[in-house]
Amino acid sequence: MEAGAVKQSPLFIKSIPIVTRSVKGKFRNLKTAVMLFGYSFYFILPWIPWERAGAPSQAVLFDLVTRRFFIFNLIVYPQDIFWLAMVLFILAALLFFTTGLVGRAWCGFFCFQTVWTDLFIRIEQAIQGERPARLKLQKQPWNSEKILKVGSSHFLMVLVSFWTAISFAAYFTYAPNLLGNLISGHAVEATYITVIVLTITTYAAAGILRENICTLACPYARFQSVMYEADTLAVSYDARRGEGTKGRIVPKPGLRIREERIEQGHGDCIDCGFCVQVCPTGIDIRNGLQYQCISCGLCIDACNNIMDSVGYPRGLIRYDSEINLKSPTPTKPSIQWMRPKVIGYALSVLLMTGTLAYHIGTRLDTEVAIQQVRQPLFIKLSDGSIRNRYQIHLVNKTELDETYQVGVKGIPDEALDMGNIPHLKVSAGKDLRVNAKVSLSRELAAKTKKFKFIIKPSSRDEAPLEIETNFNSPQ
Ligand code: SF4
Ligand code: SF4
Repeated sequence: MEAGAVKQSPLFIKSIPIVTRSVKGKFRNLKTAVMLFGYSFYFILPWIPWERAGAPSQAVLFDLVTRRFFIFNLIVYPQDIFWLAMVLFILAALLFFTTGLVGRAWCGFFCFQTVWTDLFIRIEQAIQGERPARLKLQKQPWNSEKILKVGSSHFLMVLVSFWTAISFAAYFTYAPNLLGNLISGHAVEATYITVIVLTITTYAAAGILRENICTLACPYARFQSVMYEADTLAVSYDARRGEGTKGRIVPKPGLRIREERIEQGHGDCIDCGFCVQVCPTGIDIRNGLQYQCISCGLCIDACNNIMDSVGYPRGLIRYDSEINLKSPTPTKPSIQWMRPKVIGYALSVLLMTGTLAYHIGTRLDTEVAIQQVRQPLFIKLSDGSIRNRYQIHLVNKTELDETYQVGVKGIPDEALDMGNIPHLKVSAGKDLRVNAKVSLSRELAAKTKKFKFIIKPSSRDEAPLEIETNFNSPQ
């Protein structure tokens, strides 16, 4: 290359498949516990039977046809879209809160990509063996053994992906009939498309692309660093302890005992590479904090096991903060709660969760909106009386059809004219708009600025709803 020429980075670098080693430890156990809990939740929930309005249904059903979401005894209507917005805000604030405290822990333990990839790696391990056996299998030519082992691993991954897709579809249709309808061709087109697309994407993301989704496609990986502070706990390698003044070195005669290594200026890292071999994104945490790190903690387990085996203290790789790692007198790492950002996120989560719980807890079974017809604001009738017109919008948020009686308060009953529909019948989960006329004599109209509509469900013994509205007249 000529002097001064700029070295170009290649546009495409072939990725080397990552073959991880299994590891034992508390972070591995935590990951497994979260995975089992998450799977039980996801796969079982839509199959729990639940009775609604005397008919069999399921505990969680997102019924797009009737535009109602059933979550146990709660029914969510399109009018409750505000709740969905609140849930999204709460989840976002919760994500910022946890990232501020313990870095990218969401990615390492809870993200769907991580959880499904973890399961698929376990399938590979069960069929193809531990890391050395899988590496050997990768290098050997395609023979019957390789075809059988690789083929059956991928077949199982496709099966899991298929069941993942079926379970997802089960949230949107009556689950007990789903499989039968799919096989007999009676399911709706959208169900077939959902199952096919989700099977392919789950298999592709967790079975083939794996860490590439986290490192190349996930936007969160790129902006998570803005949420980090010097106090944030992140998976870190204690370079001062690991490298000493002369760097890491493998144990050999004269460099096996910790004191000997310290005396000769070498650190505790014995350069075994276990931390790299267990890493699902294939990085070396000893190179410092990297955006590819999903904070899964598996390298901590790996290094702790090595430290135990050579008799050195644990914690060469650990969850620690930048401040503590740089401190001349590091202390035991701990979560620093008392920070303005963390307190701000915590308060936002509490406030929004409280607001959401209040709205859910105080929601009425009937929603009423009354709008005055403003074109024109009033009509002068031939007998001199004044008429206002209103549009009543009623939403029946119960599971049963309901008939509502409409009345008025503050003006004579006969002032209300509902035309031919004095009782309003609204089907379960549906809404109805009707027009009402209110006519007052000129004298009464002059004195009336406001009155109330009274709405009462016929079948339920509950207090009627009173909605105050304006009455307009020429004065
Ligand atoms: S470096 Fe450690 S914590 Fe980060 S992804 Fe790899 S194994 Fe997980
Ligand atoms: S596992 Fe620990 S000792 Fe082994 S290379 Fe990694 S940091 Fe060094």
